[in-house]
Amino acid sequence: MISKRVSYICDDNLINQCNRLPAVAGRASMVHKLIDSYGLTKSLKIVRPTFASYHDLRKFHSELYVDYLKSIKEIDDDYMANAEDEEHGIGYDCPPVSNMFDLVSTIAGASITAARCLVFGIADVAINWCGGWHHAQRFAADGFCYINDIVLAIETLQQKFHNILYIDLDIHHGNGVQDAYNLSKSVFTLSFHKYEPGFYPGTGGLDDIGLLSGKGYSCNFPLHAWYSDETIDYAFGQIFPDVFKKFKPDAIVVQCGADALAHDPQGGAKLTTHGYHSCLTKIIDMDKPVLVLGGGGYKFPNAARLWTSLTALLLGVSLDENIPEHDYWTQYGPDYTLVVEPMLTKDTNKKDYLDQCINIIKENLNYINIKPLEAPTLKEKKNDLESCDKKAQTDSIFKRFKSNLTKNQNNDMTQLDVYEFLE
Ligand SMILES: [Zn+2]
Repeated sequence: MISKRVSYICDDNLINQCNRLPAVAGRASMVHKLIDSYGLTKSLKIVRPTFASYHDLRKFHSELYVDYLKSIKEIDDDYMANAEDEEHGIGYDCPPVSNMFDLVSTIAGASITAARCLVFGIADVAINWCGGWHHAQRFAADGFCYINDIVLAIETLQQKFHNILYIDLDIHHGNGVQDAYNLSKSVFTLSFHKYEPGFYPGTGGLDDIGLLSGKGYSCNFPLHAWYSDETIDYAFGQIFPDVFKKFKPDAIVVQCGADALAHDPQGGAKLTTHGYHSCLTKIIDMDKPVLVLGGGGYKFPNAARLWTSLTALLLGVSLDENIPEHDYWTQYGPDYTLVVEPMLTKDTNKKDYLDQCINIIKENLNYINIKPLEAPTLKEKKNDLESCDKKAQTDSIFKRFKSNLTKNQNNDMTQLDVYEFLE
């Protein structure tokens, strides 16, 4: 692999704020300390993140949602979510957090800063392990994600780069990012994830390939439970080069959610660090600017193992398997090594199934570069969204579009405002 100039977005405030995310409380410190214990921070260009402003967040999120986040100040331990909270997705899996705006503007600001490192050409690769919150929707929090830092980073990248390829390696479908760009042909979303009945978020099937002018510019590889390094290596190796060749991205964003690792309590796959290494190596070898983000990962020592080893991979250095002594060393027992313990559970993905998926996906890639439909008028877009809504009643994004359109008729936002981020 060619050696790269790697920027690492980090400061104490980013770590402290990311530590406050309820689903991954304290994880950011563990990850950073492990990276630091290996001395990798000496080889990285450490970039201090800026805060995302209200205006920055509005480049994707709705005015109602950002205003709501801004209104959340002190939250007591016994706080009960009310109807307004639930309307904004705040409650069960996204509990309210004190001073919410500080949290979201820090995390979003870090991914925007990473994108700026690539836009300004000061790095070939920019890392924000505190980012990668791919489920957050324009109007609401969802699936542990309060702010969609990924979409905001992609919007920043598009100041310089036209075609952006988004790759999602988290065990969950990257629904929030795909929803944002379902109609777009300048952002291609490619997600590999577990797709089983009842598994969150329930979207990301083979036929979920984008809509209207964006048809063919979303690609999902739905995998069965317990997918292994061999499976992801085969699936990714068959699909990624074709997507790259056809779509011709100018920059790549990769979400490296660590919850597809073996033993993750929210997961159900059995990857080790090798599966992720193999995908990231193929991405980096394409020699395009790459934004690298974190995401899920609920067995914290394993998330730290993965992201430390990926940081080393990007720097082109190899690490001693034995973890150096540091503040969190005791949490890496009983072996105190970088190795993610493999699982004996059988991978339920048969080669026949993978080949069937690969054939269908390759067929769908033929939509790329076909002259797109004429850009629809706003009225046509509204009608199309309403007819899509009927077909996809379980897809919450359409319901939200529709409710927002209804709200807009009496509100100060114009219909154009609803669509501006989709163009
Ligand atoms: Zn996940």
